[in-house]
Amino acid sequence: MAQDTQPRADLELRQQQVEQATTEWWQELNALYPRLQHSPLPRTEWFERGSRAGIADVRHWLVAFNRPMLERDDGFAIILPNTVVHELCHLAAYALHGTCGHDPAWRSVMEAVGFTPKRTHDLDITGLPGVQRRWRYRCSCGDVYVSTTRHNRIQQGKAIYRCTRCNDPLTH
Ligand SMILES: [Zn+2]
Ligand SMILES: [Zn+2]
Repeated sequence: MAQDTQPRADLELRQQQVEQATTEWWQELNALYPRLQHSPLPRTEWFERGSRAGIADVRHWLVAFNRPMLERDDGFAIILPNTVVHELCHLAAYALHGTCGHDPAWRSVMEAVGFTPKRTHDLDITGLPGVQRRWRYRCSCGDVYVSTTRHNRIQQGKAIYRCTRCNDPLTH
């Protein structure tokens, strides 16, 4: 457990790179939209759990990124620069148009900086802290995903779960 809380050298470097990129992409957005110069540079923060790569908080004027995801090479490759730009564009869309979410204002800002406006990342999030593993089961109408708790009960013969759509028992 102790080594999980120990700062890792390459993680610190990656965090610095993300913070640096936040500044640089914000400057890029400022160059494209001079009205953004009335808004301060957003703060960069980190969070430790969950499947989201990043968060934009317009109230506190900050962007935050998933630190365990950053520690993984595939996660790092997504956060820098995609998630950095994605979240900054939320703040920019808010400053320019007063809107939140993946709306046309956000999409237009994303396209203006040369990024495809995608809502979510495609990273396999299995094993990240705060992310429940889902197990794939089948029934006659398709695939159903169940939690580890349910998966164990089924495997131990303690329970049978049925699909809520077709009422078939789930099979692994
Ligand atoms: Zn978003
Ligand atoms: Zn079904």
